[in-house]
Formats: sequence, structure tokens, C-alpha cells
Amino acid sequence: MIELNKDIKYIKGVGPARAELLNKVGIYTLEDAITYFPRGHEDRGNVKSIAELVDGEEALISAYAVTRINEFKANARLTLCKLTVRDETGSCQITWYNQKYLKNSIKLNQRYKFYGKVSKKGSRVEMQSPVFEDADSTKNTGRIVPIYPLTYSLTQNTIRNVIESAINSLNGELPETLPQYLIDRYHLLGNNEAIRQIHFPDSFEMFNKARTRLVFEELLAMQLALLSLKNKYEINKPGIQFDKNAKMSDIIDKLPFKLTNAQLRVLEEIDRDMEKSKPMNRLLQGDVGSGKTIVALISAYKAVKSGYQATIMAPTAILATQHMETFTQILQDMGIKCELLVSGITKKRKNEILEKLASGEIDILIGTHAILEENVVFKNLGLVITDEQHRFGVRQRSVIAEKGNNPDVLVMTATPIPRTLALILYGDLDISIIDELPPNRKKIETYAVGKQMEARVNAFIAKNIDEGRQCYIVCPLVEENEEINAKSVMELADEYKNKIFSKYKVEYLHGKMKAKEKDEIMEKFKNGEIDILISTTVIEVGVNVPNASVMVIQNAERFGLAQLHQLRGRVGRGEYQSYCILKYQGNSEIVKERMKVISSTNDGFVISEKDLELRGSGEFFGTKQHGIPEFKIANLFEDIGILKTVQSIALEIINKDKTLEHEENRELKRMVENKFKNRIEI
Ligand code: ADP
Ligand code: MG
Repeated sequence: MIELNKDIKYIKGVGPARAELLNKVGIYTLEDAITYFPRGHEDRGNVKSIAELVDGEEALISAYAVTRINEFKANARLTLCKLTVRDETGSCQITWYNQKYLKNSIKLNQRYKFYGKVSKKGSRVEMQSPVFEDADSTKNTGRIVPIYPLTYSLTQNTIRNVIESAINSLNGELPETLPQYLIDRYHLLGNNEAIRQIHFPDSFEMFNKARTRLVFEELLAMQLALLSLKNKYEINKPGIQFDKNAKMSDIIDKLPFKLTNAQLRVLEEIDRDMEKSKPMNRLLQGDVGSGKTIVALISAYKAVKSGYQATIMAPTAILATQHMETFTQILQDMGIKCELLVSGITKKRKNEILEKLASGEIDILIGTHAILEENVVFKNLGLVITDEQHRFGVRQRSVIAEKGNNPDVLVMTATPIPRTLALILYGDLDISIIDELPPNRKKIETYAVGKQMEARVNAFIAKNIDEGRQCYIVCPLVEENEEINAKSVMELADEYKNKIFSKYKVEYLHGKMKAKEKDEIMEKFKNGEIDILISTTVIEVGVNVPNASVMVIQNAERFGLAQLHQLRGRVGRGEYQSYCILKYQGNSEIVKERMKVISSTNDGFVISEKDLELRGSGEFFGTKQHGIPEFKIANLFEDIGILKTVQSIALEIINKDKTLEHEENRELKRMVENKFKNRIEI
């Protein structure tokens, strides 16, 4: 039996001192060592003749020493070691820097292999600081050699030796972690072969096979972990069955507009969930402006008509207030009582609300994080809705759900995420998508412009204001420091107020301001008392000012595509043709590509796919923030093909074997437990 937990210091050639260095890079056990995957490989497999060498390349030669190593002191701090070697086609001058210990390591007339960077000046061939070994050795040359990430005081050589020694100690007896039927069906390498070939591949083709197998395993474990967690909910917790006679259609018929087909479809899914005894855990995705609020409202209506309370949590007071207005407008006449709970209200008012909430006088509580507080107690909470999920942690979601007795949960987000990835981020949730905008929405005209267009942009803003519209100007977060960001907003406001737009009413908004001040400014903007609102991205989420028709984004190159799209969604909310102007600097291809994408489409899903492609998954998710597990080897963007395969396999397996009890899935169960036991926080 292989003991994967064996302390690294007992591996041949390690010992206590080296073990300490290995601990620094996170290698404590035998298992850590064999799963310390290389960041790349160098092909030191093909010996080239000296005559073939090309300037600038890294290459391997096999040559004999025609001199001894000669030392030269270039200055007090620099000693050069020089050596001339020769093969059948020519000679090469080798130089090492400050490596005096090399002096006696090369014997005259003996043959060695050298791997290093080549430089050619005319017919003179040189190689700088090569690694070398005896001509018949294959430790560091003569094959494809792994290059490891972070090594601190360890040399590549040392870590390579340790890992090779660790792999050799396995004797090819590493237990298989995937069931044989999957290995056969997908032609995967076995575990032992995969581990050896990922480090010391016989060819790049074998490396790819090894990587595929390991990525497959990692993604499958994660997907199974997520799905079995979801099953746990389903098995363990009966929830509320909402009343079949509380019909959504009763309120749908009274709305001032016709719902889109997408809204209707999503509502059907929610309706079905709500009537089941299993608690709903559903993610509602829909682009900005797709009409998620009304879906929330109709769901809350059903909960209330079934005799329960509902709550909606929004990330900012501005948004909560806006929801409150929408809800009261529609629900007041139906005798449904809504109330707003945000942190700014007086103690007296708050106590009043808490009392009415506990007695059941309030049907729907709308608010911010304030709802999470311990003293907020419901009489019988049946439905929890969180808006703009990416602002709330998974934990907060469960804190609020615990205020009821297994209430249904609906999570709404305006960040469109490609479906495959949504399955990872929200694997514990069922997913509904509103993929259609309400009719008669005008496309927001988007233009990317350089600095030379400044005057024209300003004239354009003035023209729109003169026609009665309003304008947003967004300054990027210059740094993580809100203080500095606030300053950049105020400087621009100063210039606009006193010079360029002195005719108009200009105000600003930033994260350092008090909640009350922010709300006041926002209120004024909504009422049309402000023409130009300059702000940081605090306006990013959900505010609705239909009269605002122009959005100018300063330094648009500093934003990701998804964020630009979110910001742009603040305009185009009314009957007026709206515009988004992206002021950008710089000529990098990626900036140009981003500007092209955002100007050419209004489809959030297309944009998010592109964003993912241009930025890579790490940056896209800001990984940790989303609670997505970190992968040792998989890369969500590159490995999307494997991910898709694995997702369907995982579903197939779980459908047949909910808790992985079958004998044939024994390995899978162990794998899930080992890999993701502590890593997924739901
Ligand atoms: P988001 O999905 O971004 O939260 P909202 O729910 O704020 O979008 O909806 C944006 C606007 O569209 C609101 O003014 C809302 O009243 C309106 N709206 C929603 N659904 C429809 C519809 N089916 N037809 C017309 N207007 C709609
Ligand atoms: Mg919204």
C-alpha cells in the first residue's frame, strides 16, 4: 500500500533541511510532491549539432571539452568561467557567471551534453550558463524536462530530483482513482502513467494525454461534489409547498405590460418549484433590463397569497428603495403590505418595522444587509429573494434562509455567465435564464473614442441635456483606494462644474460619501434636478433613471467587458434613444478588441463569453470572491471541452447513483471526498 501521506523528508534524497525548503512551496507529503505540477517543459530531448544552432534559441548539444574551465575576474563582483567545446561540426564558446565551483567539474577531452541559450555573432557560436551533464546521463538533458513554478531557494534541479524520486518510490503502484469503465470509455491514461508523464513526458503528445486525464479527474470530482451536495439538500430538507390556488396569472393579468416569453417561461419554472415540497434553490440570470424585478414581484405575490412572508435583499439602499417603489405601486391596491428596511432609518421606525414583521403585519420586507441582522425575525418567512447575487456571499444567502423554516430561495443576477460555467459557480442551484429583452427597447448606440474627440463628446452631452435628457459620467476605480478614487471624481466634477459645463447642474457621487448623502444625490438625479452625474462605479448595479440617455465612461480601457456592459445598462431604460461613449487610451490589441466587441453587440451572453476568452477564467471570476474552488491543473477556459464532457458524465452517474454508493463508483466517492471535502463552501 502506498502511503501518500508520508512526510516528504522520508523520500530518498530529501532529509530534514531540504524538507523545510519544500514545505515553503507547499510540499509536505509524498502526495504533495507528485501533484506539484510543472508550469511548463523544455524540450531537451533532441541533440543538435553546433553548426545547426540558431541565434537566440535554447538548444542541446553534445560536445567534448577542448580546454579546461578558465576563470576571469571581470570586476570585484563578477567572475566568468569560460570553456571551449567542440563536436564534429564546429566549436562553441561557453560562459558561466559567478559559478566558481564549476572549475573542476569538466574534464578535458571528455564528452558532455550542454543545454542553454545560444548566441551567434558571425561564425562565432556561444552558449550562456548552460546546464550540463555527462553525455550518457539523462537526468537533466536528453529528454523533455519539467520546469516548476515557485521554487524559492530550491533549484529546478533539486526539485526535479525530489519529484522524480517521489514518483520512483511509487513503483507504479499508485491506486487508480477513476473507475475502469470511465478510463476505458474515454481512453484515459491510468493514474500511474498520468502522474509520470505529466512530470517527465516521453513526448509532448504523452504530456497532453496525461494532462487530459488529470483535468478530467479534477473537474469530474468537483462536478460530482456539487451535484451530491445538491442532492443532500433535496433528501434532507422538506420545505414549503405553496398554494396551487395562489395563481400567478391573477397578478400577471393586472400588469401594465405584457410579459415576455422568457419571463413567462421562467415564472413557470419558479411556480413549479414553489408548489413542490422540496425547497426551491434557483438562480435567475438575466441581462440588465431584462425584467427580473417583476419576476421577483410575482413570485413574492404567490408566497404571500399562500399565507407566507417574502423578503428581497438588494446590495445597496438605492436599489432597495427602487424595488420598494415598484412593489408598492403594484401591490398596494391588492392589500399586500411592503416595508423597507435599510440601515439609515431611525431606531423608532426600525422597532416598529421589526414588530410588524414578527406579528405578520408586513407581507414583504425589502432591504439591504440590514435584513441579515439577528433581531430581524419573521413570523413565517416562505420566500427569500436576493438581487444581484455577485455582491452577496454564499454564507449570507444561508443566514437569511435560516430566518425561515427551509424557505424557497431565488437568487437573481445580472452577470451573464456562460451556462457551463454557471454550473460550476452555482452548481448547487437550478438555473433559469431570461434571454430576451422587453419589446421596443432601442439598442444603446455605443462608440469608442480617443482623446482627440473630447470636444465633440462634450458638445454631444450638452445637446442631449438641452433636449431634456440627463447624463452619467463614470470614472474608473484608479486603485483599490477609495480615497484616491473619490479625488479623481471630485477633480473631474470641479472641472465640469466650473468650466466646461458651468451652464448645467453637475453633481458627483463616490464610495467615500455617507449613505445618506449618496441617496440624496441619487434622489435628485432621479427627479431630474441634476443634469450630469459624475461617479465611480457605485452606480453600476440596477439603478433605474429612464430619462438618463447618455453614459460616458472615462478610461474605458481599465474596465472588463462584463463591467462595461453592466454600466451601459444604466441607460436605455426609457423611451429615448440612448448612447454609451467609451473614452479610451492606448493602442493595445486587447483594448481595441474589447472596444470592438462592446460597440458591436448588446447581448450580455456574447459579451461574457468574449470577456472570458480575452481575460481568462482567473481574472473573469476574481476566483476567490466567487467561492469557486481553485484548481490544481484544470483551467476553466482552456478546458471547456473537457468540462462539458464531464458535466454530462457527472449527471449520468448521479442520476443512477445519487450518493455514490454503488460498487463501480467506489473510487469516485473516495476521489470526491479527498479532493473537495473542505474546498467547496456552500
Ligand atoms: P433588471 O432585469 O435589470 O433588474 P428591471 O426589472 O429593472 O430589469 O426592468 C427594467 C425595466 O423594464 C423596468 O422599468 C420594468 O418595468 C420594465 N419591464 C420589465 N418587464 C417588461 C415587459 N415585459 N415589457 C415592458 N417593460 C418591462
Ligand atoms: Mg435589477
